[in-house]
Amino acid sequence: YTKKHKIAQYTVYSEELDQQSAYRLTIERELKSALAKQEMMLHYQPIIDLKTNRLSAMEALIRWNHPELGFVPPDSFIPISEETGQIVSLGRWVLYTACAQNKAWQDQGHPPIKICVNISTIQLQQLDFVQTVIEILEETGLDAKWLELEVTESILLVDTELLKCSLQQLKKLGVSMSIDDFGTGFTSLSYLRQFSFDRIKIDRSFVGDISNDLNGKAITATIILLAHTLNMTVVAEGIEDNTQLAFLQDQNCNEGQGYYFGRPLPAELHDLTTLYVK
Ligand code: C2E
Ligand code: MG
Ligand code: MG
Ligand code: MG
Repeated sequence: YTKKHKIAQYTVYSEELDQQSAYRLTIERELKSALAKQEMMLHYQPIIDLKTNRLSAMEALIRWNHPELGFVPPDSFIPISEETGQIVSLGRWVLYTACAQNKAWQDQGHPPIKICVNISTIQLQQLDFVQTVIEILEETGLDAKWLELEVTESILLVDTELLKCSLQQLKKLGVSMSIDDFGTGFTSLSYLRQFSFDRIKIDRSFVGDISNDLNGKAITATIILLAHTLNMTVVAEGIEDNTQLAFLQDQNCNEGQGYYFGRPLPAELHDLTTLYVK
């Protein structure tokens, strides 16, 4: 009886695995044609200056709407595209589209803001990444000072000359750099200083804990202090309510992002003239 039971369990498990790898293969295959079929689009989420309540930046977030699979969240296809290398062409499209959109907003007469673009560690490790950025800024006519690249802490583990050189060149160009999801990965504080990032984005899991436990408060306050000590500005991600906002303002957090201010939306659904004095 026990044996049978075990076999049954194993069967279920392996079926699950099969389903998982089939899904993976489907994603991998469908990703190949997604750009050409115009299934990808960018949504933009406001980042607000917590002192002035004004819009200071927009973060570009990729959306994939597949005719049969439906909406596929970035957290499930970005890692696959990183493993297959598809992230390189996908990421170039994102960077181009986001820079072009920011230039369009400026050309419409809106006060200039930064566009924040998520960059995979894989992209940043390409030999021609800096050249790609230069080309895109030229093609779109966007001034480098209105572009910010977001990378996760995993980049700090890639301690190579190429990476140091690329980061220096980007800085020279006038592009700013921020560390996304700060606090969730392994960070060597000495690297943090060495690479001179401009901003830290506090991961939304800590911000979410502000309203329900004391650790959330202690951790966010500590990250803010750390950022300021290292001369970086700090952005809190995932602000959903007034309690979180009030605490962050009290701790002198520079900027904020989250559903409280606005969800990611297509560019045409944002009214930049009303964003954002709440
Ligand atoms: P991220 O860069 O940390 O982006 C923030 C994520 O939090 C977004 O999820 C956003 O929709 C969500 N979010 C914002 N405010 C709130 C809030 O108040 N509450 C909650 N619960 N969530 C909030 P999204 O769009 O699903 O993206 C997930 C991740 O996928 C991103 O995390 C980023 O790491 C990655 N990603 C998205 N677009 C791109 C891209 O174009 N390139 C690369 N390499 N990665 C991307
Ligand atoms: Mg981000
Ligand atoms: Mg984040
Ligand atoms: Mg994230």
